[in-house]
Amino acid sequence: MVEHQLRAQGIKDERVLAAMESVPRHLFVSPDLQAAAYDDRALPIGEGQTISQPYMVALMTGLLELKGDEKVLEVGTGSGYQAAVLSRLAAEVFTVERIDALASKARRMLKYLECSNVSVIVSDGTTGLPAHAPFDAIIVAAAAPHIPQAYIDQLKINGRLVIPVGSRFSQVLYKIKKTSDGITSSISTPCAFVPLIGKEGWDERESYEA
Ligand code: SAM
Repeated sequence: MVEHQLRAQGIKDERVLAAMESVPRHLFVSPDLQAAAYDDRALPIGEGQTISQPYMVALMTGLLELKGDEKVLEVGTGSGYQAAVLSRLAAEVFTVERIDALASKARRMLKYLECSNVSVIVSDGTTGLPAHAPFDAIIVAAAAPHIPQAYIDQLKINGRLVIPVGSRFSQVLYKIKKTSDGITSSISTPCAFVPLIGKEGWDERESYEA
């Protein structure tokens, strides 16, 4: 996966590549999907949710510019795979999931893999995680209709936010940097994530009806 898909598609960050090489992605999917676990695509994880495509995990993780001593917030724990990758690259990881069953499963796997610097929390991540703010980096693994102000407020100065923003079905990846003079923002790859549902995200009914 690392050599033939990530490097081949232009991922150059050696720390990110090493972290992804060290996390067994097949343990984060059900036994019937393990043969496909190293394909470069999103896979179902139950509850109508997905584990993200490896390329997208690598790209988003690289955009966070982690050096090793950061406190990171992930919104959308899902299977826990992205959190396991982050655990190799940062000092402390808080990951928030709205679906209890997914959070419990992820917590078990992260414990099994000894990712002791990761805390899994069940809550509506659209309002961030004020009790543990501020963060050096925030990564949002679900599609937002707009950028919730809470994420900007909960970033440290020089902190980075990576988030897919757009419609229910297609988005663009945004990287936001908070500086002492304000916000800088850049746009990269088009993407398609499951919806970020909650107070500052999509309405749950709307997302199922769409
Ligand atoms: N990072 C995950 C992984 O490595 O498996 C994949 C995340 S999946 C694409 C998106 C996740 O975001 C889903 O598990 C979904 O339940 C969750 N989610 C959606 N809205 C949320 C919210 N407001 N707060 C927390 N989690 C949310």
